[in-house]
Amino acid sequence: MTTSQQLFEKAKELIPGGVNSPVRAFRAVGGSPLFIKSAKGPYIYDEDGRSYIELINSWGPMILGHAFEPVEQAVRDAIQHSFSFGAPTRKEVEMAELIISMVPSVEKVRMVNSGTEATMAAIRVARGFTGRDKIIKFEGCYHGHGDSFLIAAGSGAMTMGVPDSPGVTKATAADTLTAPYNDLAAVEVLLENNHNQVAALILEPVVGNMGCVLPEPGFLEGIRSLCDKHGVVLIFDEVMTGFRLARGGAQERFGITPDLTTMGKIIGGGMPVGAYGGRRDIMDMVSPAGPVYQAGTLSGNPIAMSAGLAMLRHLNDNPGVYSRLEEIGTKLHTGFSNSLAKLGLPFTINQIGSMFTLFMTERSVSNFADAKTCDLPLFGRYFHAMLERGVYLAPSQFESLFVSVALTDELIDQVIQANEESLTVALTN
Ligand code: PMP
Repeated sequence: MTTSQQLFEKAKELIPGGVNSPVRAFRAVGGSPLFIKSAKGPYIYDEDGRSYIELINSWGPMILGHAFEPVEQAVRDAIQHSFSFGAPTRKEVEMAELIISMVPSVEKVRMVNSGTEATMAAIRVARGFTGRDKIIKFEGCYHGHGDSFLIAAGSGAMTMGVPDSPGVTKATAADTLTAPYNDLAAVEVLLENNHNQVAALILEPVVGNMGCVLPEPGFLEGIRSLCDKHGVVLIFDEVMTGFRLARGGAQERFGITPDLTTMGKIIGGGMPVGAYGGRRDIMDMVSPAGPVYQAGTLSGNPIAMSAGLAMLRHLNDNPGVYSRLEEIGTKLHTGFSNSLAKLGLPFTINQIGSMFTLFMTERSVSNFADAKTCDLPLFGRYFHAMLERGVYLAPSQFESLFVSVALTDELIDQVIQANEESLTVALTN
């Protein structure tokens, strides 16, 4: 048994499923997860001393590579002044100022401790602001584990939500309406059938959570105008796309202005941080400025703010990061496409900037139903073949890769080579 396997056996006795977040358990691909000891730059190292090229990067935050020196230094400096005060600090003001300057639609912002907290708070604020109860989300979009978001995806646009997870009440689920991604007509029907009842529409402006799925031309514009027409608060969940697809996230890249934005991952530089922000009149509903309650003992934590500030300042001051991420994404796309052509495989690649998914299906993938046509056992074999070749991918077909700027051209070539070999191995097994 490897050390990772031994640790996993013990972990299963102590932690539900052996992990503190489900996807880590490798259930979707089989086998036993790697237990990670450290990471630096483009590499991650497991407990058995093996190294892997990183294409997960903590599911997004490590956009500059692991243990990026300015972030590390900022944390080292901060810990000399104690770890938490539960009182306001200068760094929180600097953080708010920086986020507002980077993200086009954000006029005021509140820091929280995770993406889940950000989305839960954002819909509460939208409900408080509009005095309405229902929300619309898209099938296959993930917005954290708040009750309102854990709603079955498959039951079609016009159906009332059914709880996806035991523990979510029917009453909560009934307030969440779902539509297929990229389907404006379905959204319109929901809005008309629930006239003056929908508080918010939340979406990933580029989806990462059914694999990478792009908004079709006109989709985001159409959503914006439907929300305007029906008085619905439009929430862009930019936990994945924020500070990744552009300095100002997907909203900058696509030129669409949401009312509220939820953020996470990169914003904390790897520390547990989230944030939500947006229009001043809506954000002024939040306690203590307004009546909508939301709080956190560790919110705006000084160590987390220091890491996040160092990260965002680097991104803000170095636009070259974004051109390099585009270049890396394009190189991977081209390399993978060439291999697919060579092997005669009709699979689909969705890529935008540094978000990327190879879908093992012939269908073009623009919503969750398309993504679900993938050959999942084939993906499992491919995933393990990639691991054997030293490439660390997300352990599920329904995830995006998150590339970092630490990936050199030489490493990109290694990934492309490993991909071609792994596809061949997966197909013959
Ligand atoms: N929204 C999106 C778009 C996400 O991808 C995630 C997490 N992957 C979340 C919200 C929840 O964030 P967290 O895991 O930090 O609670």
